[in-house]
Amino acid sequence: MHAIAERLLSIKSTLPEGVQLVAISKFHPQEAIEAALSSGHRCYGESRVQELTAKEAALPKEIEWHFIGHLQGNKVKYIAPFISLIHAVDSVSLLREINKQGAKCQRRVPCLLQLHVAQEETKFGFSPEELTAYMDSEAWRALDFVSLRGIMCMASNTDDTARVRADFRTANRIFETIKSRHFPDDPLFATKSWGMSGDYRIAIEEGSNMVRIGTAIFGEREY
Ligand SMILES: *Cc1c(COP(=O)(O)O)cnc(C)c1O
Repeated sequence: MHAIAERLLSIKSTLPEGVQLVAISKFHPQEAIEAALSSGHRCYGESRVQELTAKEAALPKEIEWHFIGHLQGNKVKYIAPFISLIHAVDSVSLLREINKQGAKCQRRVPCLLQLHVAQEETKFGFSPEELTAYMDSEAWRALDFVSLRGIMCMASNTDDTARVRADFRTANRIFETIKSRHFPDDPLFATKSWGMSGDYRIAIEEGSNMVRIGTAIFGEREY
């Protein structure tokens, strides 16, 4: 078996039941994804629209594509027709644009709301206060072509595992608050997307049920 498929299966076998793996294939060639596909895994994540649409066109239709990067409003139209999940919805205006493009292709586009919990200034996302306020406004209920599925976050980029754990714990707390207030009876609002190659074990301990793993499967990226 190809080394990529072996690494993927080995990581997958360590994940607790109920934790989904998104194999992050960004910056890796189509051949790397074909190798991973030979393991039987079908869920892949990309962070750039052009790269994603090129791969989507060229690779087997059985693949479930996730978009994990920062998404610009003017590019939503290219992925709305096929994307399985948009992870990093970081503004109300982006959510409205996704709704508009969803309407055009008559598809409720599955989305996660990106929560900013890391200490760095540079990361995108709603602050916990912004997100709970927006959800409490109920304005999102008018977006008929968006399907809210949960929350995504990235932890602080640090070796301080206590800090990383605290970030995930905050995200889990906000998820539970929003879930209980707005989706108590909606089984679709259930996804907690946190954890990457370096921190997915901590993420799972802190409630994650969807991990996004690139380097540990595909090796280092060449930018
Ligand atoms: C690149 C990326 C990942 C994967 O990171 P690795 O450290 O390679 O596992 C996960 N999530 C997001 C949002 C990313 O941009």
